Amino acid sequence: SGATPTFAFEPSTAMVAANERAQRLVNPGFGRVFTDHMALIRYSEDKGWHDAKITARQAVSMDPASSVLHYAQEIFEGLKAYHRPNGGAALFRPEANARRFNDSARRMAMPALPEELFLESIRALVRTEKDWIPDSEDGALYLRPFMFASEVFLGVKPSAEYLYMVIASSVGAYFKGGAPSVSLWVTREYTRAAPGGTGAAKCGGNYATSLIAQAEATRNGCDQVVFLDAVERRWVEELGGMNIFFVFDDGTLVTPPLTGTILPGITRDSLLTLARDQGLTVREEPYSIEQWRADAESGRLTEAFACGTAAVVTPIGSVKSAEGSFSIGGQSAGPLTQRLRANLVDIQRGQAPDPHGWVEKI
Ligand code: PMP
Repeated sequence: SGATPTFAFEPSTAMVAANERAQRLVNPGFGRVFTDHMALIRYSEDKGWHDAKITARQAVSMDPASSVLHYAQEIFEGLKAYHRPNGGAALFRPEANARRFNDSARRMAMPALPEELFLESIRALVRTEKDWIPDSEDGALYLRPFMFASEVFLGVKPSAEYLYMVIASSVGAYFKGGAPSVSLWVTREYTRAAPGGTGAAKCGGNYATSLIAQAEATRNGCDQVVFLDAVERRWVEELGGMNIFFVFDDGTLVTPPLTGTILPGITRDSLLTLARDQGLTVREEPYSIEQWRADAESGRLTEAFACGTAAVVTPIGSVKSAEGSFSIGGQSAGPLTQRLRANLVDIQRGQAPDPHGWVEKI
């Protein structure tokens, strides 16, 4: 319709005091510090989307037969609001999250949320909670939109009712100590997504199934798990919550293609664009674990990094599997990884021009 949706505002009566908030913003970590308010919109088959509001962040009371608790019809998104150098806040490509949210909704047989409603829920919450954006160099307000099936019914069918919500969390670096590089564990036992499955959707179930593989990684002394494809068990796909890039000695970049089993990351897409802007050759093509090992050992592969909203761009230092381990470059980020990371972060934080119109000021 073009009209901006309006959100009723119900201010929280139990807001955190300014001095207590400042305390919590000093070292927020990731995903533990939450703001005072949340956005909420209800859906029912007869009324469609209704009751949009910004309200106090509070517990949701649910009937034990709510279908999400049994059949996991749930999707989510993740994006950040950044401080502008001269005050104010900005979002990075929020319409890409709105589109991906609806792609996930379609895969999970859930109703589409009009993009404008998604965007306005984010903007309204950020306007309300802008004081919760940490000032630190890698601080941001992490926004978590999500939708779940709330019909009280035990039949296996798409729910007739849903709740859409957005909560916000003040965050610092995703990896403790801002890790200069991470170590990966290649799981042979578990896969993340099969052709025809839900790998390209951001549904909670994908993350539930990754936990045992991540535990395997931790047990083997590694920071993160890397998944191989489910059919041949040799093509590198992605990490539990990040996409992956490979950098070669001739300056080319390779990342696995979007064939339906990996999440189409917005960071991934942005880095592909920035790399092309810089005149680099980038290829979206399958890359096998055997080739990765061979290229790392021969020196043809000079850098590798993981990327995503939470982890930004994180260099990969070593890779371990049942067959043994190999390392990549040095302990810190390689030159191309550093350059791409700086390029992206500077745009996100308003410290460089934004040639693609990715930044939306709030
Ligand atoms: N892969 C997975 C499985 C993820 O959960 C994420 C985080 N959303 C990503 C990749 C990176 O996506 P984005 O760059 O959009 O955050």
